[in-house]
Amino acid sequence: MREKKRIVVVEDEPDIAEIVREYLERDGFSVEVAGTVTGALDALQRGTPDALLLDITLPDGSGLDVLRAAALPEARVPTIMLTARADEADRIIGLELGADDYVTKPFSPREVLARVRSLLRRTGETAAATAGKPTRKTRIAELEIDHDFHELSIAGKTASLTATEFKILALLAENPGEVFTRSHLLDRLGDDGAIYERTLDRHINNLRKKIEKDPRNPEYVLTVYGTGYKMRRS
Ligand code: CA
Repeated sequence: MREKKRIVVVEDEPDIAEIVREYLERDGFSVEVAGTVTGALDALQRGTPDALLLDITLPDGSGLDVLRAAALPEARVPTIMLTARADEADRIIGLELGADDYVTKPFSPREVLARVRSLLRRTGETAAATAGKPTRKTRIAELEIDHDFHELSIAGKTASLTATEFKILALLAENPGEVFTRSHLLDRLGDDGAIYERTLDRHINNLRKKIEKDPRNPEYVLTVYGTGYKMRRS
């Protein structure tokens, strides 16, 4: 049997910490909760976890301090920040410090679980690619997305996407039904430095022209008015 993946949850609000713990444990993860910066650093000292869920506002300091320690190249920990809406500046610093993702409070534990799975898939991918494991694919209706070879086929026919279009599609498809705001999409895609808010909609339009039967009435990449985009569920 495979060893359980260990996740450290740093969160000082006991109700939030416990419900996140419950969801992750139910999904087969081993969970350790810390409520302070000191506690978090202790937990990291005991061994590098497979993932870190990190609240930013902690009683004895900032989660960013934990991130500074956890993001050291020699001890890189896949990290999702748990942030309040008002923490935008911290969130940006956190992403710059190497956090992989964030969820904004109030969040549903289901969303956190989905993000953790997605993060572990992504971090596992690098290892899998070198180990020659089978390729990972997502299927949504007629779309088949091959994440390892960056290929898309529609009803069995290969479609040609730009790198950015593929990234947008893959990100949405890995989290079907989940709404991505424009700024969240940009955060997740922006590491290329080539995507700006004004061009994001254009990439989405181009993507739709390639994957939708009727790009003006999309069936896959749906607009959530005033918010952003989401992929249909199945
Ligand atoms: Ca807090």
